[in-house]
Amino acid sequence: MEEKYYEISAENLKKFVDSLISDNYEVIAPKNKDGDTFYGKIGSFGEANLDILLPKVSYKEYLLPKTETLFDYSFSGEGVNIKDGLAAVAGENQKRVIFGGRPCDAAAGPIMEKVFNWDFKDEFFNERFKNLTIVSIACDKPDNYCFCTEMQLSPESSYGSDILLKKAGSRYFAAVTGEKGLSLIAPYLSLFKEIPKAQFPADKDWKKTFEIEKTKNFLDKNFEHGYFQNRFLSCIGCGICTYTCPTCHCFDIQDEGNLKEGRRIRNWDSCQFGIFTLHTSGHNPRVTQGDRYRQRLMHKFKIYSEKFDKYLCVGCGRCSRNCPEDIDIKEVLKDLSELV
Ligand code: SF4
Ligand code: SF4
Repeated sequence: MEEKYYEISAENLKKFVDSLISDNYEVIAPKNKDGDTFYGKIGSFGEANLDILLPKVSYKEYLLPKTETLFDYSFSGEGVNIKDGLAAVAGENQKRVIFGGRPCDAAAGPIMEKVFNWDFKDEFFNERFKNLTIVSIACDKPDNYCFCTEMQLSPESSYGSDILLKKAGSRYFAAVTGEKGLSLIAPYLSLFKEIPKAQFPADKDWKKTFEIEKTKNFLDKNFEHGYFQNRFLSCIGCGICTYTCPTCHCFDIQDEGNLKEGRRIRNWDSCQFGIFTLHTSGHNPRVTQGDRYRQRLMHKFKIYSEKFDKYLCVGCGRCSRNCPEDIDIKEVLKDLSELV
């Protein structure tokens, strides 16, 4: 994949983003709202908050909305009319840029793409992903909840970013990768100065606090271990960990309608809800929050990696930062790696 390297001043980066907006790109960036920071559409560069580590919630909803209509239906005489929801998606986001997120968030897209293109190609996801260009900014101060380095990434990883920026004083260096990144900057090249790869700042030596392979080894052999039941007794099953996570992607499909018309919708769901696995018979194979959190761990760090060769976690730490019960997944993964 073609990769080019550039330098751009802070002033020109502002001009670049403002030009994208005036050229009708929908630019989504970390933005202050209600005393916190969330991804949202910006009307100018100045609305973006590039100083925070991470927005409270990931940008997942731009790939998999909280709720979306798959199709509308109506009955006419003996016929059924179907209006496919995909047509609306195709026209919805032709030019969308996620600007100013971090490398962990950028990595989530290609990791999720694998499950959305496995036995069934999810055209809703694919249409949105195809039209999304990711411009990330490397971190220099990860917090104690972060563990991207343990998840085979790093605060400077370019995996999933079409453009990765690294800040150096009042200028930025840019690694621009592939067709999406190169075509995004093509009309604005006068703002960028091309440099040789050797001038792009090298990554720091980020240290790991545990080995995820050891955690995986534990999960391979200890499904019934008492750790799961004891450690998650305080979990209240609120699902915040899954809703704020950039890689959790479980959904539920519902029909809403009457005898004349209706729609089929899909909504985010969560493996942390008791009802998630409740059978019609009343039997529930996952009785406790320990069973449910164990499933979250098994899915992310065993099952997904065996099937798709990637862990279903980018180490952003959101599930820990947002958990009302202070359950810290980094501590959990470290504990498990040491129980081997
Ligand atoms: S956010 Fe915390 S309390 Fe809520 S379901 Fe997740 S682990 Fe349990
Ligand atoms: S499981 Fe937690 S740390 Fe991993 S990607 Fe999801 S929110 Fe981030």
